Amino acid sequence: MIDLQSFEVWLVTGSQHLYGEAALKQVAEDSKTIAGGLSKSGKLPVKVVFKPVVTTPEAIHSISLEANNTPACVGLIAWMHTFSPAKMWIAGLKALHKPFVHLHTQFSAELPWASIDMNFMNLHQSAHGDREFGFIGSRMRLNRKVIVGHWQDEDVLSQLTTWMRAACAWHDLQSMRIARFGDNMRDVAVTEGDKVAAQIQFGYSVYGYGVGELVKSMESIPDASIDKLVSEYNDNYLVEDKLRKGGAQHQSLREAARIELGLRAFLEQGRFNAFTTTFEDLHGLTQLPGLAVQRLMGDGYGFGAEGDWKTASLVRSMKVMGSGLKGGTSFMEDYTYDLSGKTPKVLGAHMLEVCESVASGKPSLEIHPLSIGGKSDPPRLVFNVAAGKAVNATVLDLGNRFRMVVNPVEVVEPEKPLNKLPVARAVWIPQPNLKTAAGAWILAGGAHHTGFSQSVSAEMLADFAEMANLEYLLIDNETKLDAFKKELRWNEVFYMMKSNGL
Ligand code: MN
Repeated sequence: MIDLQSFEVWLVTGSQHLYGEAALKQVAEDSKTIAGGLSKSGKLPVKVVFKPVVTTPEAIHSISLEANNTPACVGLIAWMHTFSPAKMWIAGLKALHKPFVHLHTQFSAELPWASIDMNFMNLHQSAHGDREFGFIGSRMRLNRKVIVGHWQDEDVLSQLTTWMRAACAWHDLQSMRIARFGDNMRDVAVTEGDKVAAQIQFGYSVYGYGVGELVKSMESIPDASIDKLVSEYNDNYLVEDKLRKGGAQHQSLREAARIELGLRAFLEQGRFNAFTTTFEDLHGLTQLPGLAVQRLMGDGYGFGAEGDWKTASLVRSMKVMGSGLKGGTSFMEDYTYDLSGKTPKVLGAHMLEVCESVASGKPSLEIHPLSIGGKSDPPRLVFNVAAGKAVNATVLDLGNRFRMVVNPVEVVEPEKPLNKLPVARAVWIPQPNLKTAAGAWILAGGAHHTGFSQSVSAEMLADFAEMANLEYLLIDNETKLDAFKKELRWNEVFYMMKSNGL
């Protein structure tokens, strides 16, 4: 469902007419080589397209407008091969509505000590040309990433990749549509927020529906489609006997399949990329959608439980960022702790809705009672999440701004088999430890719902937050609680002043 290969990033090289046609020709050649080299490295998720060298305010303005109007273009890489007086960039940067990264590089890595002359110096000026460009970015208070190093360096490619993935997610966010069945879980605070503010800042829109609309979509599903999907379940999962054909609760599995097909059809028809449900509004449904949500997330949909549209959009964005990488992304909730021993841990899960993309092996498809919601028992996929690096992220609405909090974690194997736990789960140790991580998370107002990912990095989320003009707080191995508290206070002042136009 998510394919980044149709996207492109444009390499825009700045120069000026001072050096003569031969120098400009060489600049263009070098820039073409870099664009081709970056694309051919095989390490970047999107294509890098060479654009003609820009040397006038008109050309810069025009390429910015062209970028804005090109749906496949998710952002620009700006690089000043030579000096490019930055007043020329003001109109273009003002008009640009796509993210840009400033690649501070030089065509050749080595300085030719023995042969260097003024011709070489005139051509390779990024050391100071990029500083002039950097000034105008800062003067205009533009959010951007600055990457420093030779364009063939592994580290530079890796930082570019990260930025590109964030740019794809930002691009996706601009037209993201979230379907919301029912409203919020009653009385819950953190899942609420200002949808108008979110749409203005992030681009996505949230559409509310009565759950009856979903029921209507389910009613038109033919039995043959349900048969087909149930046999797909049999192929993909370890289906427990009572759910199999002839089993006592086979009908519940068929009902789950009907929910999945109805929900999928609804989302496809409405061109939605994410959705929310709530167990307090299930009128006309016999069971809370569990399996359906797990599988739709597996296909790239964002999801938030209990009406949590902010987490639904975040999960979708993280799925775009991590597309094609090893490891999955899911809706998650910090559920229960192990506070014993030297290394306290979190057991993450939800009532049902953990994405199958994070499963460590073949999930088992089981049915168990659900203690809330007052509906029939819902089938669900049960599995462990594989040990290894992961990240948790949350977005919350503070009233005057949105804030993102990110915490890298280490998923570990459960100490003992969780034979009686009827939901998918992950056990993790947060950075730097549970005490500091949970303390900082709570002081920051971070939600209990998160986007959890084995493929997305904290740096990707930082780049994404930069594009979204979103406050970004990282809790990692460097975090000290007293410094973190100061950061919260300082940010409060910063954003207050910023909202006043300073
Ligand atoms: Mn929840």
